[in-house]
Amino acid sequence: MSRVYNFSAGPSMLPESVLKKAASEMLEYETSGQSVMEMSHRSKVFDKIAKDTEALFREVYNVPDNYKVLFLQGGASLQFAAIPLNLLNGSKKADYILSGQFSSKAYKEAQKYGDVKAIASSKEDNFTYVPKITKDDITPDADYVYICFNNTIYGTKFPYIPETGDIPLVADISSCMLSEPLDISKFGLVYGGAQKNVAPAGLTIVVVREDLIGKADEKIPAVMDYKVMADADSMYNTPPCYCIYMCKLVLEWIKNEVGGLEKMKERNEKKAAILYDFLDNSKLFKPVAQKESRSLMNVTFVTDSDEMNAKFVSEAAEAGFVNLKGHRSVGGMRASIYNAMPVEGVEKLVEFMKKFEAENI
Ligand SMILES: *Cc1c(COP(=O)(O)O)cnc(C)c1O
Repeated sequence: MSRVYNFSAGPSMLPESVLKKAASEMLEYETSGQSVMEMSHRSKVFDKIAKDTEALFREVYNVPDNYKVLFLQGGASLQFAAIPLNLLNGSKKADYILSGQFSSKAYKEAQKYGDVKAIASSKEDNFTYVPKITKDDITPDADYVYICFNNTIYGTKFPYIPETGDIPLVADISSCMLSEPLDISKFGLVYGGAQKNVAPAGLTIVVVREDLIGKADEKIPAVMDYKVMADADSMYNTPPCYCIYMCKLVLEWIKNEVGGLEKMKERNEKKAAILYDFLDNSKLFKPVAQKESRSLMNVTFVTDSDEMNAKFVSEAAEAGFVNLKGHRSVGGMRASIYNAMPVEGVEKLVEFMKKFEAENI
């Protein structure tokens, strides 16, 4: 067996020890005589897995007691609609900050349901930075303000948490969930698809302040209604059982092997610094995202020519560094270095890039 260094933006790497543990429990989970994949979600055994996962998520992410943690399906993209359907319940106004493709998609979706405004955008610079907003930019009676905290495609991250006063701040944290400590009390709702940093594809985690729940229009589909899902402990219908179990293993890995989110952050900062330091000094490669908005998770970079980019991506893949091709709207390269990417993976990538640079300059 020879595992590659996988820089995919998502679905992406999972920690090797998590995969091994899942493999060892594949045929029989504990003494249940069955795989987690085969269990009823109403069984005692799975009920414990679900409860333990939530408890661990709350502990590791330091979720305040007045927030619900929901384990849902439909991906982050379903939340683009679920958020306005649940939260546009007062003035039916909402403000969106457009810092990339996912916030733009969320904005477009929300426009179907209310009076939704883009209060800032970095589109004119192809989203190479995160726009700054202040409290004065916000619609005073908005039902919520929406941001995408880490912009997976462009390799940028909010360097600040917008100050929205009493107006709930909603953040898509799909590509930075559990990558570092987050003060959840500054947000009304944070959510993300699990396939970037937390579990295999199929699970979406929503963390929502309790007072924001239960005011949705009655025509909202039941599976999108946070009240229905919260009242049923995320089991109104069949949850993504196996993904929840994998999420539990990842949380145990963060807690017991990494040593918690402060340690996770240190590790992630170290990896990002190795790559950005190299890019800042390279004669061949250039970083794309502006310095103050750089992501710790997704690092975008280019050379001067499309041919050189393609040559690099192909030779890197041959050397065992896969999925480095950038998203089509940015071009060039993107190295996604989520939690599960070991420091050694980034060190070896940079070694390879140095060698490639020496041969091609
Ligand atoms: C991947 C991603 C999405 C889309 O997630 P799906 O689960 O495919 O709907 C949305 N937002 C961000 C920030 C992402 O990285």
